Amino acid sequence: MHLLPTSSPPSLVRLLVSALISPSSSLLRPLQPPISLLSRRPLTASTLPMPDGDDSLLRKALADKLATIQAQANAVRQLKASGAPKSDIDAAVQSLNALKLDKASLETQFLQSATNNRDAFRQALVNTLERRLFYMPSFKIYRGVAGLYDYGPPGCAVKSNVLAFWRQHFVLEENMLEVDCPCVTPEIVLKASGHVEKFTDLMVKDEKTGTCYRADHLLKDYCKDKLEKDLTITAEKAAELKHVLALLDDLSAEKLGAKIKEYGITAPDTKNHLSDPYPFNLMFQTSIGPSGLSPGYMRPETAQGIFVNFKDLYYYNGNKLPFAAAQIGQAFRNEISPRQGLLRVREFTLAEIEHFVDPQDKSHPKFSEIASLEFLMFPREGQMCGQSAERLQIGEAVAKGIVNNETLGYFIGRVYLFLTRLGIDKERLRFRQHLANEMAHYAADCWDAEIECSYGWIECVGIADRSAYDLCAHSDKSGVALVAQEKYSEPREVEKLVIAPVKKELGLAFKGNQKMVTEALEVMDEKVALQMKADLESKGEVEFYICSLGKNVTVKKNMVSISKEKKKEHQRVFTPSVIEPSFGIGRIIYCLFEHAFYTRPSKAGDEQLNVFRFPPLVAPIKCTVFPLVQNQQYEEVAKFISKSLTAAGISHKIDITGTSIGKRYARTDELGVPFAVTVDSTSSVTIRERDSKDQIRVNVENVAAVVKEVTDGQSTWDDILKAYPLHSSGSVDEE
Ligand code: AMP
Repeated sequence: MHLLPTSSPPSLVRLLVSALISPSSSLLRPLQPPISLLSRRPLTASTLPMPDGDDSLLRKALADKLATIQAQANAVRQLKASGAPKSDIDAAVQSLNALKLDKASLETQFLQSATNNRDAFRQALVNTLERRLFYMPSFKIYRGVAGLYDYGPPGCAVKSNVLAFWRQHFVLEENMLEVDCPCVTPEIVLKASGHVEKFTDLMVKDEKTGTCYRADHLLKDYCKDKLEKDLTITAEKAAELKHVLALLDDLSAEKLGAKIKEYGITAPDTKNHLSDPYPFNLMFQTSIGPSGLSPGYMRPETAQGIFVNFKDLYYYNGNKLPFAAAQIGQAFRNEISPRQGLLRVREFTLAEIEHFVDPQDKSHPKFSEIASLEFLMFPREGQMCGQSAERLQIGEAVAKGIVNNETLGYFIGRVYLFLTRLGIDKERLRFRQHLANEMAHYAADCWDAEIECSYGWIECVGIADRSAYDLCAHSDKSGVALVAQEKYSEPREVEKLVIAPVKKELGLAFKGNQKMVTEALEVMDEKVALQMKADLESKGEVEFYICSLGKNVTVKKNMVSISKEKKKEHQRVFTPSVIEPSFGIGRIIYCLFEHAFYTRPSKAGDEQLNVFRFPPLVAPIKCTVFPLVQNQQYEEVAKFISKSLTAAGISHKIDITGTSIGKRYARTDELGVPFAVTVDSTSSVTIRERDSKDQIRVNVENVAAVVKEVTDGQSTWDDILKAYPLHSSGSVDEE
């Protein structure tokens, strides 16, 4: 099973369900052939083979139990039929009932402990998030729109903290060139990138109501449901369903349609028949200007804005490689049937880096800084053999060629640091390599940072070496060379292919078509040209296909000269490779919410209180200030502290309501505020840490400095505890 260690030993059921709900990554940039990759990669279906293991154990235990029950029931029947003494029959019935009880308990284990716990946890979390306005459905008073969410005040603060840290951790640290490009993008750009043609998902429609569904989601739900809930299916059927789940990403429209029919899958809401699957382009189309003559789209990603600016950015960078450009902005994808809250939405914030590098030198000067980091990685080989993710040192992974190159490895390491510093649990973060069938043919290597949450493993950051594909595509379409140069210190002698069409002979032979034939000869690639040269020398003529004419022509030896010549070159001109880490900010934030959320009993033990253990870096508000009781003197002190916190740049909230201090703590714990200052005298106050509930006593004048020290990360709470006296009566005030 490809499952990860968790803080507590995972139960069989947890392992099973975790595997079943494992979502996979996407390669949302439209891909060029191979054909199997022509549509957008589904986001949630696992592409991983799902090996047996603990699942089969559990299944076997249940199957054995069912068989024993069957045998016992037969025995009871036989006893009754043979007129056996009542005491024997009663004893047999009693055993039968005991067996049934065992079976029920296994089933409960199977279903409840996994599904219910997970659902109950998520329900509690989402209720809290929506009630405290972290985020909520957009346009709620008009019943909302699926896949659109608003961030309320604490959510906005968390998001802006995440983005500020992203800028600091990546843009500032690596001297990246940040740009900010429009969301509205002309069609030609997205034609060049391939989005217009291939940014699609397969969709089916309810034949009566017209409601749309993602075809792969329906098939996935069916398989998952059967595996999770139908205890009567045979081991063979279970293996088949798992196989379908593993292949989901690769199924063509025809195959997907055939499976839907075979399993009798109908529209989930109405049970009506479904149409055959067909591709639906996920971009929101618009037109630029009033004429309607200039089609455009809302960008589905921010990357294209960077690629089209490559020439200027390269110049801005002093014509030097490597360099990286970065962009944070909104992306729009008209998801067919969005679900899973913030994880799949129709408008979301992307933060993308395009690191341009010489394809002949993908070393990274700062690689040694991250080389010793060790974390969970899930290489392709391991996935294929049904192994689990393994703890690997990134330096070793690059040295062994598991990760294609140092620059890619460097970003994997930096992404790991970024996510864990935000508060993502190290044990629920893994880097999964794309399988060969997930990658575009041009990509050198791709890894997804996947975070485990109640929905399974979610791709939150894609880190791909896309080679020169994007810049080449825009060079071709725009006619502007998006290239870099390497100047040689000494001119180098190189052998160059020279193709010289003989226009006079071509004119005589092809008349009006001469231009087309000449052009086609001039742009032949080296392999084709050398083959033509050999054929012309051996046979005197050769058939040559001219795309613009749509037919073959016969080219003779006197019509073209092909040779290799030695030339002196002063520089090398090449298209840079691009290494692209792409961060879905909303997904990261949602996973952070899950990893930070916990409940603890109130002091009286009569209710569960919600807490978000956000690190100070992400916490929406760093500190609250409470006068212990409503009195003017304490309020004055609270206002003084508030002013000094403002001067120190610390976000805070002052609460002078007469509510009990315990209730006020509980309210801010639920917002994830790490520190609470309680004014209980005019000279010194207490500072309480959210998770330990420890309190220290600090002079009023020092409060802002202490809070700053610990929220800026200069000191830990443990350091602070050593430096200030503990306030022991604090717990009395807790709810
Ligand atoms: P992609 O370009 O498809 O690799 O997407 C880049 C990142 O955007 C992914 O790693 C996700 O974190 C995020 N993402 C993609 N689609 C969505 C969506 N519909 N809603 C929220 N985040 C998304």
